[in-house]
Amino acid sequence: MKFIKTFILILFVALIALGGYAFYDYQNVLKKEAPIQTISFNQQEISFQSATVQDSILFGLYPIKQEYIYETIPTLETQNIVNELNLLPQDEVIITDPSNQIENTVGLNQINLENNGLYHIQVNRTIDQTSYIFSFNVQVDTHPIISISNQNPVQGELLIVEIDNIPLNSQIEIKNHFRPSAISQKDYKARFYLPMAYREAAKVYPLTLSINRQEYNYELDVNTYEFKEIHFTVQQTVVSSTVGNNDAVIQYRETIYPLYETFETEEYWEGNFINPVEGARMSSTFGEMRFVNNAKTPTRHAGIDYAIACGTEVLASNAGKVEYAGFLTMIGNTIVIDHGLGLKTFYEHMEDITITQGDMVEKGQLIGHVGTTGYSTGCHLHFQAMVKNQSINPEFLYTIDN
Ligand SMILES: [Zn+2]
Repeated sequence: MKFIKTFILILFVALIALGGYAFYDYQNVLKKEAPIQTISFNQQEISFQSATVQDSILFGLYPIKQEYIYETIPTLETQNIVNELNLLPQDEVIITDPSNQIENTVGLNQINLENNGLYHIQVNRTIDQTSYIFSFNVQVDTHPIISISNQNPVQGELLIVEIDNIPLNSQIEIKNHFRPSAISQKDYKARFYLPMAYREAAKVYPLTLSINRQEYNYELDVNTYEFKEIHFTVQQTVVSSTVGNNDAVIQYRETIYPLYETFETEEYWEGNFINPVEGARMSSTFGEMRFVNNAKTPTRHAGIDYAIACGTEVLASNAGKVEYAGFLTMIGNTIVIDHGLGLKTFYEHMEDITITQGDMVEKGQLIGHVGTTGYSTGCHLHFQAMVKNQSINPEFLYTIDN
């Protein structure tokens, strides 16, 4: 009997002790803070707004769910379309755009906010049975970032215009006296070339870019380039078989003129262009006024002539696609390379051609040899650069850095 009494007493004390311990354990759980977690949006640190912690008392016997609510952070601002979020691979991102469209992604560290207005962003994260919610607003106010390689160019210069931070499939229109190349549009960026055609007067030309119906106005102050004058004679037999030969003129126009409107959508060229015949003498300069056989009015020379021995290697000035390779009575063996978006180089009067129309060529690749075919008075390469029907100075391409 006494034994039972003692047993009940011990059991009673044990239960009280256990109850006390459970109470103490529970108080400890309540006192806990959720472990710190952060994400960042464009380097701005963001704490979580709420966390649900799966806890327990009595050595894991009783599970307890704890909910922590924190202050919401103020609205963030961005002018970028592409924004950085540092996330864990399992993080779920729910983006509500200004028109209440919802997009779900997982673990992306780059979020693209294409529309202006207020976005709501929620990131759900789970670590060690604790789920966190980061919830914040972003006010988006994006503008195109426009750069023009030179607003103070000279006649014959090639300008590169870059437009950054624009939505995908933006509507871009270019209004200018000069005819722009095709436009390349990729990853929130657009690019095109604007040739300061050498025959046009040196003066100020307005340039208007219309991007998604918003207009941006610029002025291009084109300066004079000192074009040389040259007087020389060409044998009558050469003249009558080429520039004086109607069939040759027609063949030239029918082959070359259509090339002014075609273009590759891909940009193949990189860095500077190279002189296709290194070490040659420049026998005729760019844009030169030529008085041939004592003519009263000059013709203009749209490229550069490099005089060097016939048989000298001719190299591709930059990477591109061979758009034309063949013989034309007027200009002899000719190669036209499209370097992308319709920026083309022309190689004329060659002795032979070592590549085929349609080939892709690398910068510096052998494409043929110097000759004196077509309207030519001696071994030389006529090298020309064009965008559409507008010639530009190849020497500018030698110093360009793409
Ligand atoms: Zn020439």
